Amino acid sequence: MKLLTYSWKLGTLRGVEIRLHFSLLFSLIITYSLFHPTNFRGGLLAFCWLIGFVLSVFLHEVGHAWAARRVNVEVKSILLWLLGGLTFLEREPEKPFHRLFVYAAGPLATLVLSLLFAAVYLAYIFFYAFLPYETGLELLRFVEAFPTVFLSLAVLNIVLLVFNLLPVYPFDGGRIVHAFIESFFGKSNANLVTMLISTPILIGLIAFGIYVHDYVLLISSLFIALAIGTLNRRSLHWINLGLSYLIKRPGYYFLQGDYARAEPYYTRDIKREPQQVNHYIARALCYFFMLEREKACADVERALQIAPNNEVLLLLRADVYALEKNYEAALDLIAQVQALKPNWAHGHMDHGSVLMKTGSLQLALDEFNRAISLTSQIPLFYVERSIVYLKLGNLDLAHKDQDSALALSEKDALTRAEFALQAYEGCLDWAEDYYARALQKRPRSWYAYQGRADAYRINNEHEKAIADYTRALEINPKEPGLYLGRGKSYRAKGEIDCAVADFRQVSLVTNKIHLRRQAENLSASLAGN
Ligand SMILES: [Zn+2]
Repeated sequence: MKLLTYSWKLGTLRGVEIRLHFSLLFSLIITYSLFHPTNFRGGLLAFCWLIGFVLSVFLHEVGHAWAARRVNVEVKSILLWLLGGLTFLEREPEKPFHRLFVYAAGPLATLVLSLLFAAVYLAYIFFYAFLPYETGLELLRFVEAFPTVFLSLAVLNIVLLVFNLLPVYPFDGGRIVHAFIESFFGKSNANLVTMLISTPILIGLIAFGIYVHDYVLLISSLFIALAIGTLNRRSLHWINLGLSYLIKRPGYYFLQGDYARAEPYYTRDIKREPQQVNHYIARALCYFFMLEREKACADVERALQIAPNNEVLLLLRADVYALEKNYEAALDLIAQVQALKPNWAHGHMDHGSVLMKTGSLQLALDEFNRAISLTSQIPLFYVERSIVYLKLGNLDLAHKDQDSALALSEKDALTRAEFALQAYEGCLDWAEDYYARALQKRPRSWYAYQGRADAYRINNEHEKAIADYTRALEINPKEPGLYLGRGKSYRAKGEIDCAVADFRQVSLVTNKIHLRRQAENLSASLAGN
């Protein structure tokens, strides 16, 4: 996979890194096959065309980059590859209108370029006609073919323009359509409409590719299809699963929530590359989900020795401090993270969460606002902000955030991982309001019953928790987490038989090793009493 992403740094332009992707080498072959240069003049022609081609792609990206700077978004790098360019922004512009501006600026630059090349071509043949024929016949012969280069570059830019403006996501045209619809009808409608427009055009492109045997187009179509898939959360999930299964098995198990099966793969990776901190982070996350916090912390600590300034590790460590209610240590580390990476949404998010726990509600709100302005697609951010709004007495804004979270993802908005349930502590008034509203809108949502049951359980309201788990199980009798949760509440109430029955049920409904193991351990601890 390294080879596919290999690129050379060409230089830096006003703080923007310019990189050339190795696929650009193939443009030499394409240029050769277009021009078949046999002498010096032919070679020079071909070279001018190639420079013009790369310059056209580059200036298109400069258009995007310039527009991004105008709306205060930092540009990290520009990558030029065979089929065009990519501009990497530090983040997406927040306002749809700003996005519209950034996506339109590239095609606009291409339009200007095609007009410029056409103008040079016209000027050239105009002056050529007026040149006295006798003067320097040799020189004239030499330059006579150059106008065609400008003409072909003008045509090339028009082709680039048309291609870029196809209303197919993720082309500029598709993104323009998306930003345009979003500014009037909101994000989820924009996703839907863009998908509905993009898909038939993509199918057309594929049919055309098969018809003319254009394999480059067919492979590009695959990437376009993947990009379109990202517009929809469900299809994105399946794409991630498919790719992970093919490329990296632990990632597949991780996304499936099968942490005990993912863990040995990461352990093997750590043995193979002990200096690679990402392996430790991945394994630590597995341990968190498996409720083995000590092992998780050990991995985080070891990785921190390798990379003491890794912001993900520092934030994980801070989160553990927060779980241990050592808020001062957590805030210290988060300050360090924010100094390293001031525009990282997760840093602000976790800062807000800790501030909320310490009672600094207004400061927490500021941090949540910042996090959401940086990344607007994470349901949990809205959930957390709705808690702080409710505590500040602003019910309207709390409800608005709850609706935003639900619109993004039902599961992520309504449930939390077991190890993160502490967030519900002391928030029962919020939880009752939140889940009652969610259930009004989606009366069959077992996620809502599960979330509320978890909140009741963490706040020691086991009677109500059991009632909600039971309702969720009536809707989805195959969810192991519900049996585990209800079993724990039964155990807390001293109803041992019911608890054991629930824990037994877990291994009947799931193959996930860590959940079976948890249930067995819980059963065993009860049997010992
Ligand atoms: Zn573009």
